[in-house]
Amino acid sequence: MTGTRGPGSNPERGLHGPFPAGNGPARSWRPWAPGRAGSGAGEGRSAEVVSRHVVRVPLASTTLPPADHTNAYVVRGEEGAVVWDAPGRDERALAPLWEALRALGEPPVRAVVLSHAHPDHVERAAEVCRRTGAPARAHPSLPSRLGRARDGIPWGEPLGEGDRIDLGGVSLVILFTPGHAPDHLVGWVPEDRALLAGDLLAGEGTVAIAPPEGDLGLYLASLGRVEALAPKVAGPGHGPTLRDPVRAARETYEHRMMREREILALLREGVGDPDEMVRRIYGDTLSARVLPFARATVAAHLAKLAGEGRAREEGGLWRTT
Ligand SMILES: [Zn+2]
Repeated sequence: MTGTRGPGSNPERGLHGPFPAGNGPARSWRPWAPGRAGSGAGEGRSAEVVSRHVVRVPLASTTLPPADHTNAYVVRGEEGAVVWDAPGRDERALAPLWEALRALGEPPVRAVVLSHAHPDHVERAAEVCRRTGAPARAHPSLPSRLGRARDGIPWGEPLGEGDRIDLGGVSLVILFTPGHAPDHLVGWVPEDRALLAGDLLAGEGTVAIAPPEGDLGLYLASLGRVEALAPKVAGPGHGPTLRDPVRAARETYEHRMMREREILALLREGVGDPDEMVRRIYGDTLSARVLPFARATVAAHLAKLAGEGRAREEGGLWRTT
C-alpha cells in the first residue's frame, strides 16, 4: 500500500522502456503495443514488458490513493512461469492477468508468490491459484497474518532468503526485505538483473511505514540491498516500471533521511507532540484518508530514533536524549 505522493515519485521516470531484443520466448512477449509516453490518464496502467522474462500487469485493486492499481508480474521461463502477487478488487479485475498469460502461451504456473500480507497484494490469491492450479508461496508468517482470508488458498512451501524457483533458462531468487511489512519479500531475476520490488520501492506515491508492523530501520536496511544488487530494472508494487532502480532507492532513502532531520529539528525546538509534528511537517490540509499515514510516518521515525537511543517519550511527549 502506498500513501501520500512524495518528492521521490517521478511520473516521467521509466515509463515504457525499451522492449527486449533477441530470440527465444521473449519474442512472443510483445502482445502489447509500445506505450505512448505522456498519454495522461491510464498512463502506466497497461501491461508492459519489464525485461526479457518479466511482464508487468497492473490490476485494479483495493489500495490507497493516489494508487488505484497494484502490479502483478509474470516471470516466464522455458519450463513455466511464476505469478508475482495477486491483487484485484474483484474477479473481473483479473482479466488483464489471464490475457497476459494467454499472450505468453499459457505457460504452466509453478507458483503464485505473494510479496507480503497486505490486502492489495493478496486479495485474489485464492482465485489466481484456483485458475492456474499453482500453490501460493510466501514468507512463513504470511498465511497466519491473513486471518480467515488464508482459507481457500492452497499453500505451497514457504519462501525465505535465498530460495530459488527455477523456470528453465531463468530463475526467481527470493530476498527477505522486512520493513514495510515483517513478511516482505522481493524477487530477483538474475538473468535479467530485474527486481520484483513489492512495496520496497514505489513507482508512484510513497511506501507507507506504519508501526508496529512497519519498521523504518529495517526498511532502510532493506532499501540498501537494492543498491548492493544494482538491478537494471525494477517492477514496483505500484506505478510504472523503474528503469533506474538504484537511483529510486537512493532518492527514497534520502527522502526518509530528510524527514528524520526535520523531526530531529522539531524535537530540538521543543515540539514533542507527534500530532503537532504532523501539522508542522505536512500542514493542516491533509485529507482524513491520508492523515493516518502522515501520523504513522512520524511514529515510524520516532520509533527508529528511540531504538537508536536518540529520542525518548514521556507522557506522550517526545524529546531528544
Ligand atoms: Zn503493502
